[in-house]
Amino acid sequence: MRVLITGGAGFIGSYLSEAYIERGDEVWVIDDLSTGSLDNVQSLLHHARFHFVNDTVLNREALLELTGTCDVIVHLAAAVGVRLIIEDPLKSIHTNVVGTELVLELANKFRKKTFIASTSEVYGRNSKVPLHEDDLRIYGSTVLARWSYAATKAMDEFLALAYFRTKRLPVVIARLFNTVGPRQTGRYGMVVPRFVSQALRNDPITVYGDGTQTRTFTYVGDVVRGIMALVDEPRATGEIFNIGGEEEITINELAARVKAVAASSSPIEHIPYSEAYQEGFEDMERRVPDIGKIKRLVGYRNTYDLDAILAKVVEYERTR
Ligand code: UDP
Repeated sequence: MRVLITGGAGFIGSYLSEAYIERGDEVWVIDDLSTGSLDNVQSLLHHARFHFVNDTVLNREALLELTGTCDVIVHLAAAVGVRLIIEDPLKSIHTNVVGTELVLELANKFRKKTFIASTSEVYGRNSKVPLHEDDLRIYGSTVLARWSYAATKAMDEFLALAYFRTKRLPVVIARLFNTVGPRQTGRYGMVVPRFVSQALRNDPITVYGDGTQTRTFTYVGDVVRGIMALVDEPRATGEIFNIGGEEEITINELAARVKAVAASSSPIEHIPYSEAYQEGFEDMERRVPDIGKIKRLVGYRNTYDLDAILAKVVEYERTR
């Protein structure tokens, strides 16, 4: 199979590229290296079945040629990370809305099956446990830039479903919950790489808010298997799936676990959201996915628990 991965030099994209190459597929990556990096795909660059194009998904010409070449498209390219969204909302909105619209328009032109990566952010402040694919989206004011991410990703989903319903374009959508593993950078706010590097330097571990907010973390390798299974499964077409972990943990507990796994002497510090992000910042209190739908359809399962993931991230950050 010939696979086009947009954002294929990013954290998740690079693992996905490796997995398709290992399976014997041919991979084209388009990535503008804004948050991705060549280091992520270093081991693939000289592989005969791997092709890298350094460009943005906003470049119609580049995307047109690649879309025509490939059998399926996995669209991961997006502005990611709460910090990035708050710091550069305009660029984030543009990439996430216009980029996805272009991907879908060209996918439709060539009638190529398209996977759209969405996010648990789409549920917004809905703290129901667990979150089911049909649950409500609850957002704060447009004055707060953070909600633009949820809104743009929701628009991507609407667009993809509209292409499916009106043009019969085969699309499949997955909402990824906090995905973690080696190679993820803490530069755009992601908590696990930030805590791990703070712990390894014995610097304060910075817990935002009171630390009682919870998340479920998923190993990137599991997410990648989930994406590939959904792309391969014809019955997934036109559907939305949660992909995420099953172990709910508070950020306070995460800080303690990271500290223990890294054998660190870091103090744990609490920082108000207004200092960490912006005045009036609103966080999700709990975020736990119902993954019954993807389990039933493609037999998805998580193979790494949190301690195993943290051990891998600690080992990676230590050798960097
Ligand atoms: N967080 C934190 N300290 C950090 C970075 C993040 O306490 O240095 C918190 C953040 O406020 C959120 C959780 O960790 O409650 C997960 O943040 P992340 O940005 O990784 O993902 P999110 O779930 O917000 O998309």
